[in-house]
Amino acid sequence: QRADGADGADLGALREGVRGQVLVAGDPEYDEARRVWNGAIDRRPALIVRCADSADVQQAVAFASGHGLPIAVRGGGHSVAGFSTCDDGVVIDLGLMRSVLVDVDARVARARPGATGAEFDAATQQHGLATTLGVVSTTGIAGLTLGGGIGWLMRKHGLACDNLLSVELVTADGRLVRASADENPGLFWALKGGGGNFGIVTSFEYQLHPVGPTVYGGGMMFARERRRTVLESYRELTRNAPDELTAYAAMTSGPDGSPVAAIAACYAGDVAEGARLLEPVKAAVGEPLLDGLGPLTYIEQQSRVDAGYPHGEHHYWRSCFLDDLTDEVIDILVERASLLESPPVLELIVEQLGGAIAAGDGAFAHREASYDVLIAANWTDPTDRDRCVAWARETAAALEPHSRGGYANYEPDADGAYAPGAYRDRLARLAAVKAEYDPTNLFRLNQNIIPAP
Ligand code: FAD
Repeated sequence: QRADGADGADLGALREGVRGQVLVAGDPEYDEARRVWNGAIDRRPALIVRCADSADVQQAVAFASGHGLPIAVRGGGHSVAGFSTCDDGVVIDLGLMRSVLVDVDARVARARPGATGAEFDAATQQHGLATTLGVVSTTGIAGLTLGGGIGWLMRKHGLACDNLLSVELVTADGRLVRASADENPGLFWALKGGGGNFGIVTSFEYQLHPVGPTVYGGGMMFARERRRTVLESYRELTRNAPDELTAYAAMTSGPDGSPVAAIAACYAGDVAEGARLLEPVKAAVGEPLLDGLGPLTYIEQQSRVDAGYPHGEHHYWRSCFLDDLTDEVIDILVERASLLESPPVLELIVEQLGGAIAAGDGAFAHREASYDVLIAANWTDPTDRDRCVAWARETAAALEPHSRGGYANYEPDADGAYAPGAYRDRLARLAAVKAEYDPTNLFRLNQNIIPAP
């Protein structure tokens, strides 16, 4: 169905009505505007509405639902699954709405959904403040927060979603509603981990915390032969770590493209104490190929690996949450990592959870997990696709007996296949909230929650 064909008059009215911009195929900016971060996703929406404000979002929702067109919602466009674009539907692009305003005294930030982590951190760090966001600063805050939001500050300050104080969102029936602990509390609970299922968020209000400007962080790389020792020392480090420390272990590739084992960390507290905690790892694993652990600014910590994840490369990601990094799991990780070659860059990244995450109240379903494993296949030559995807799927299958389910923000699109693992025991309650706010499942390009009957 062409939105600019039979419904030309309506499209004209939409163009007239919005403060932002409406793009259709043939418009000079259309091809650039339809691109998303994952270059493996190549779709042609009927129209792209670049919204300038909440009223634009309301009009775009009304247009799409009125014409029976699918809706894809785009914050920062980093959905690896490709949820933020679609064929023949309406992309509601929030990229023009990206202001971040900081109330320093109240330690609160009000951010629009098109903002990236880098923009958020730049605005808040000016005042020595921050909240949990992801570890690649080009990622959008919107999708990341609504799916949970894991990052360097999470064990001390909770997930990104746990730091939400309120949101404003446009619902399927076009209302602009506010959700917080006091207003629409059921909806607010669902938004903290239930993703884009309930409406389109046009404003996020976050709690901030004093952080930095200097933290102890960065990472170390070791020869690939040390993989097992790296994982064992990492387990030792993370089992006894204070909540200020969040550490990751990665089977990835080094600056020259060859496979390495790495440990990355951030200690959000006294720099000397961070150094003291990481010292035993250095001693246990031996001489690193590259030692980049040390004091750095929080902004540097947040953008340290950005260059490794540029726009337009091809990706297929899987994930699994774990209760523990057992010997068996380490065996699997070492074995799967031994199949890594570069390019393409196939990565296994173990992310440490715990700490403040358990105390959060919200739909995110893996609060008791100790670790998450990101299985990331990244390639540039399209002919590498099949073997990269096969490696990721086989790795996920090998870890399956140990998995509690996957992370909604990492899992691929598969017609609801990953929703039960992502939402677990929260699914029934989420389905009830979905039935209340989106009974016809208008917002379904996400890890979808089917409305309860
Ligand atoms: P988009 O692609 O714009 O949106 C994805 C989906 O989110 C949309 O389809 C929609 O369902 C929903 N959505 C987006 N905006 C809104 C809105 N305003 N209202 C309602 N729904 C909305 N995740 C982590 O937790 N921690 C990390 O450290 C991390 N690192 C990453 C690094 C890279 C390089 C990438 C590509 C991803 C990373 N992720 C991480 C995963 C990330 O959380 C998801 O990709 C997330 O979708 C990114 O948000 P976005 O706004 O850029 O996504």
